[in-house]
Amino acid sequence: GEGDLHGEVVVLGSGPGGYTAAFRAADLGRKVVLIERYASLGGVCLNVGCIPSKALLHAARVVSETEEMSDHGISFAAPEVDADKLRRWKDGVVGQLTGGLAGLAKQRNVTVVQGEGRFTGPNAIAVTGEGGTRNVTFDQCIIAAGSQAVKLSFIPHDDPRVVTSTGALELDPIPETMLVLGGGIIGFEMATVYQGLGARVTVVEMMDQILPGADKDMVKPLHKRMEKRLAAIRLKTKVTAVEAKSDGLHVTFEDEKGDTSTETFDKMLVAVGRTPNGGKIDAERAGVAVTDRGFIEVDHQQRTNVPHIFAIGDVVGQPMLAHKAVHEGKVAAEVAAGEKRAFDARVIPSVAYTDPEVAWVGLTEAQAKAQGIKYHKGVFPWAASGRALSNSRSEGVTKLLFDPEDDRVIGGAITGTSAGDLISEVALAIEMGADATDLAHTIHPHPTLSETVNFAAEMFEGTITDLM
Ligand code: FAD
Repeated sequence: GEGDLHGEVVVLGSGPGGYTAAFRAADLGRKVVLIERYASLGGVCLNVGCIPSKALLHAARVVSETEEMSDHGISFAAPEVDADKLRRWKDGVVGQLTGGLAGLAKQRNVTVVQGEGRFTGPNAIAVTGEGGTRNVTFDQCIIAAGSQAVKLSFIPHDDPRVVTSTGALELDPIPETMLVLGGGIIGFEMATVYQGLGARVTVVEMMDQILPGADKDMVKPLHKRMEKRLAAIRLKTKVTAVEAKSDGLHVTFEDEKGDTSTETFDKMLVAVGRTPNGGKIDAERAGVAVTDRGFIEVDHQQRTNVPHIFAIGDVVGQPMLAHKAVHEGKVAAEVAAGEKRAFDARVIPSVAYTDPEVAWVGLTEAQAKAQGIKYHKGVFPWAASGRALSNSRSEGVTKLLFDPEDDRVIGGAITGTSAGDLISEVALAIEMGADATDLAHTIHPHPTLSETVNFAAEMFEGTITDLM
């Protein structure tokens, strides 16, 4: 091969965690090698996750809002979807970002090695690519190997009509009928996409609500809107069998009473969770402990049980989110460079980029109740927001939770258009220890959706009482 290569810091995996760690380490003056099995940098998030899904969700939202304008006096013809062109646009967005990353790696003299990396010892990784196997040695290593979609043994995943999120993003084809198995964030986002593009979509979820991590009251506006657009949302229902036949996928459902029924679909997305890649890198050869489920345990400085090897992102555990991976990547690179740094974020926001969006951060009411934590709340319904009404999207809600001792913000949730952007203010409030008065007395621009955070704090303080 091309001979041995040495990196002071070697990063395994180029997703949001890996590229962030590699760039930070290089900026701190280290000689960095970044190992990635695919030709394109950016991992799941850029290639087959966050970014392509958001491009398609944008398209779906434009379609649904355009349709709804007919209620307000402007009508358009029914949309004509050119799946090839839409796919090319989405791939172009991805390409712009992944190409940008390659440029940034070059600028920083980060050596990118393409191939599948596996540990061969505590200071070495063998990288197998097209040109053979190359030995990469390191002083320190940061594992950022990410995760992949869970497949279920009783489902015929070999059939091209059965896809995970990666296949679903290909839009090949947009079917007439589709089943989405799993009403979590990824499943419900993809259901929103396919519905917007014209498919009749059924979502099936085992729990008693969609987006199981979010509070029920926050999910309600989304459920209500999408119930009308989707073929069905089946809660407390399991899929127990899938038979691939020539006329479609014959799916057997079992509801909470144990009653079964069968329905046929043209396509099926399995979105039942993601599993970490920790078990596939021969970590034991480096002495790095991996759990039975494939996670790598780390301390507050992202160190594994082997002090010169760090791990970050999806491979270290929940929540499996890009912004968590990025934050951990910076911590790992800085600790590796000898800086005093630790992961000490108070909160990590969660967002479903559905239509409307559902976002939450810190404590949820469900968690508070389960853990016996006392709280006060301020709730502002968007039906009283001038901006939400002008946008013709007044189904949203903004909710803040406060510590009864000192009125500090301890949690918040927003449902509505742009909720994912709006939730950052609540995250900042929690990080800074802001209280209800801080949010109520901060002048927010009018008319904006951001005012709903201001109003929710005022509702709690009792300074606005007559809006509802
Ligand atoms: P990954 O992005 O998984 O990257 C790991 C990289 O390591 C991959 O490129 C892989 O090829 C490489 N790799 C693994 N093993 C090896 C090896 N042995 N040798 C060489 N290379 C290897 N998160 C959000 O925050 N917001 C969103 O909107 C969002 N949307 C999503 C939508 C979808 C459809 C999916 C599937 C996920 C979404 N996520 C979202 C989750 C997000 O993509 C992940 O949390 C994030 O990508 C994790 O980053 P990471 O760096 O840990 O790993």
